[in-house]
Amino acid sequence: MKLIDIFQQRKYSLSFEVFPPKTSDVYDSVKTATEQIAALKPVFMSVTYGAGGGTSRYTLDIAKRIREEFGVESLAHLTCVSSTKETVKARIEDFKQAGIENVMALRGDIPTDLQNVDRSGWCYRHAVDLIAEIKESGADFCIGGACYPEVHPESRDQKEDIARLKEKVDAGCDFLTTQMFFDNNLLYNFLYKIREAGITVPVIAGIMPITNAKQVERAIKLSGSFMPQRFKTIVDRFGGDPLAMKQAGIAYATDQIIDLFANGVTNVHVYSMNKPDVAETIQKNLSQIIGKNS
Ligand code: FAD
Repeated sequence: MKLIDIFQQRKYSLSFEVFPPKTSDVYDSVKTATEQIAALKPVFMSVTYGAGGGTSRYTLDIAKRIREEFGVESLAHLTCVSSTKETVKARIEDFKQAGIENVMALRGDIPTDLQNVDRSGWCYRHAVDLIAEIKESGADFCIGGACYPEVHPESRDQKEDIARLKEKVDAGCDFLTTQMFFDNNLLYNFLYKIREAGITVPVIAGIMPITNAKQVERAIKLSGSFMPQRFKTIVDRFGGDPLAMKQAGIAYATDQIIDLFANGVTNVHVYSMNKPDVAETIQKNLSQIIGKNS
């Protein structure tokens, strides 16, 4: 079922993400984690696409399994940067054949060794090019796109970033999912601005539970997200104690989600990083809220 149709039937939607293995030797552990997260019956599960398409085979395989074996709707990610037309067209066809209904259309990060090369001749320079390719293929996917409450690092400013986002939505995005953020006010401010710019599609808030101190540095590097003092204090205090940090990180994420739901954000996607216990605890923490879901 298409995610936009699911969202219309739900008061609140809570969903989880898994990432595919880079190598076949850890595939079984990812499969187990996927099955355990699917057993929580989230509204949907997303499956990321490895940078440069390295794990593409697994993305499709896992997304298909989530739907067919576990009875949970899936969202398969697809990136296009530095890919050939043939590869991207073949992936779209594979997704179609596998019965995938929901696709997250992304540009992908520019591989480090290609950052300074001339990209003018590339078939796909932005996510909007992939969305156009999907539309041209005739595939009837529900298409998601990424958005950045704190501005994409390559954008000059937020005004330009939102103008590009509007073009992406106009090209055929049915919904948007945000980059992780740790201060809800940044999201509320962003939502106000995009609505003002005429972007009306549903926005899913992406929440990353930080469950160990090392993850903080990685998350900031990856997303450039602002860390509120309240969160820094938690890491300073509990970062050296893995179990305490995990509990505090899950509590912080839960608190963020409750605040989002209370303020009218209805769709939240948890970057659960193949951790069923984290997904389960967050879901339990919200059971009375998401239980009242009609
Ligand atoms: P775009 O929408 O193309 O935007 C990238 C930059 O280009 C922005 O600065 C934008 O303002 C600008 N821009 C857009 N269109 C134009 C235009 N026509 N002309 C000039 N500038 C333009 N990466 C993966 O490798 N695999 C994943 O599975 C994955 N999942 C993600 C899920 C989410 C929810 C998010 C937020 C990110 C994800 N990423 C993933 C990371 C993503 O690939 C990177 O953030 C990447 O740098 C940008 O991708 P995008 O689709 O947002 O690009």
